[in-house]
Amino acid sequence: MMTKKRIKGRAQGLCYKHVVTLLTFIQHTFRDIYDLFLETSPFLLCTIGIAFLLIYLLYISNTRIKVNIHRKTPSYKASSWSCDKTDDADDRKGVRVGLNNLGNTCFMNAVLQCLCHTQPLVDYCTRGTYLSDINHRSPTHGDLVKVFAEFVKKISDSKSKAAISPYQLRSEVQRYAPRFYGDSQQDAQEFLRYLLQGLHDDINRVKSKPSLMGDYGGDAFKTWRKYRDTDDSLIVDLFAGQLKSTLKCMTCNNDSITYDPFWDLSLPIPEGYRNTSLRQCFNLFSSPEILDGTNRPYCEVCKKKTRSSKKIEVNKFPRVLVIHLKRFSASSYGQKLNMMIECPLILGNISEFAAQNSIGDGCSYVLYGVVDHDGTNNSGHYIAKCRNPFTKEWNEFNDSRVTKASSVVTNKSYILFYIQEGSSHF
Ligand SMILES: [Zn+2]
Repeated sequence: MMTKKRIKGRAQGLCYKHVVTLLTFIQHTFRDIYDLFLETSPFLLCTIGIAFLLIYLLYISNTRIKVNIHRKTPSYKASSWSCDKTDDADDRKGVRVGLNNLGNTCFMNAVLQCLCHTQPLVDYCTRGTYLSDINHRSPTHGDLVKVFAEFVKKISDSKSKAAISPYQLRSEVQRYAPRFYGDSQQDAQEFLRYLLQGLHDDINRVKSKPSLMGDYGGDAFKTWRKYRDTDDSLIVDLFAGQLKSTLKCMTCNNDSITYDPFWDLSLPIPEGYRNTSLRQCFNLFSSPEILDGTNRPYCEVCKKKTRSSKKIEVNKFPRVLVIHLKRFSASSYGQKLNMMIECPLILGNISEFAAQNSIGDGCSYVLYGVVDHDGTNNSGHYIAKCRNPFTKEWNEFNDSRVTKASSVVTNKSYILFYIQEGSSHF
């Protein structure tokens, strides 16, 4: 105990001594400064004062510059952001880059160019909206849409004129649809269907399909709702329409109506003419077909197979209308139908081609993409002609080569891409 107290007293003594030394030091220092001021001439004092003032002014101005820089940074950022936006607006001049041919892949390149000009689909990919829609239960677990979106981004952002290789995308498509393995020429329309189906599966918002509900065979709206309950994706939002099929028994006149979704329309071509028109193709598509002989369907009223007529009409048009012209018709004895089919750049009042009381109003469509097939049934070459959604110019995409299109619709037009007016930007 004693030892501790002594140590404490010694410590207190030490502290007191230190404080006294410090105070003496301060007193001496102040006296020295005071003496210095008294000894120094007023001229020197003034010089030192001016020097301090100058240093202070310099410091102030420096701070102001710094403040300005700090203030400018966000405004600079803001302006650069708005610049980015204008740059972006300027950059958004659409796709002007070709695609390398990987060995008979012109069918794929032509279709991809048309899809890369489908602005709602491009926006969906480039803005990353697809990420929240990815359905990991799909056959490719979302891999196909990821690779496709990266491809669309790459082709949309491309500043150079150098062609892009669709190698990775092709590999992913081949993994999903092995029929596209190998270097053989394929049908562009089939490729489009497979690709859209694969993308749809990857981004279907319906993660687990509901158990099958009642059959709404005769009700267009309920059938459509039932379809959307199981298939809900941007692909369906854009490309899906509805067909109305009317089977009329020629014995009892009973109508049997069914509704089915479609993602593209395969239109027959009236044969025996040198020139025809899209309207005539639509008319032929919707004209009743007589089902007789072995093709007689079963009539629920007559309770037997009867001679009937079948009529297919469009009941609901999609936002993006893909029209496939059946140039490789089975009825044309292996010959490709090479006649000119007049297809308007603007398809006004589409309801003329639709069934009575069809869903949706009579809107008009703008042609923005054409896949051409040049050649015969056995061999040929595909190119795409696409309308730039920003400059409205038509470019021709012949694999890696991009040129201005001299004509849009020709006797080689094979697949047409129309978009509802007003839905190219949203
Ligand atoms: Zn009948």
